[in-house]
Amino acid sequence: MKILLAEDDPYLSSRLRDELARQGYVVDVASDGEEAETLGNTWDYDAVILDLGLPRRSGLEVLRNWRARGNRMPVLVLTVRNSWQERVDGLRAGADDYLGKPFHMEELLERLRALIRRAHGLQSGNKLRAGGLQLDESRREIVLADGTRHPLSAVEFRLLRYFMHNIGQVLSKRQLAEHIYDEEEEPDSNALEAHIYRLRRKVGKDHIKTLRGQGYMFVPEEKGP
Ligand code: CA
Repeated sequence: MKILLAEDDPYLSSRLRDELARQGYVVDVASDGEEAETLGNTWDYDAVILDLGLPRRSGLEVLRNWRARGNRMPVLVLTVRNSWQERVDGLRAGADDYLGKPFHMEELLERLRALIRRAHGLQSGNKLRAGGLQLDESRREIVLADGTRHPLSAVEFRLLRYFMHNIGQVLSKRQLAEHIYDEEEEPDSNALEAHIYRLRRKVGKDHIKTLRGQGYMFVPEEKGP
């Protein structure tokens, strides 16, 4: 999952970035509105955390511009606590959810998770379900239909979470890499293949199909014989 974090307060921004990275999100940071708008127009983010009080261009204007271009990525706005006017303005401009500052990190993480799931038509809750498979996000384990649990490595967790949000879609290697690796850690495609190989052994090989020359596709139900 690739997240855009637009926040000009350096302390809050770095705290958020660290926590999001710990949760397995790939995070791009923008510290002003112009930069945020450009990044949002350039990359395919799974969600945006947008402070409304940004320098150079307000978060509200950035959001209106994205929506005017037809950019529908899910946006969680950060507003001044108890400012109902800011919340109303944010929602009118096309925000999907809002959170007043200061907030508890846990609440932000839960709202973000729910927001991303909603955008993919998935139910919220601690476990992400697809067919007989369940991904336990807090324990980072896959639970198979027969109840067997397998712990996942950090990369396997990110991969599977992304797959389970994009069921039945062809995902190219480049797209997968973009959504699971930070720029600094992006490995070669052989490494990605190795992670997928290991993930297949845990979830069942038929759940992740290889489409020659195109990429991979996650299918929730294993095909019968
Ligand atoms: Ca601010």
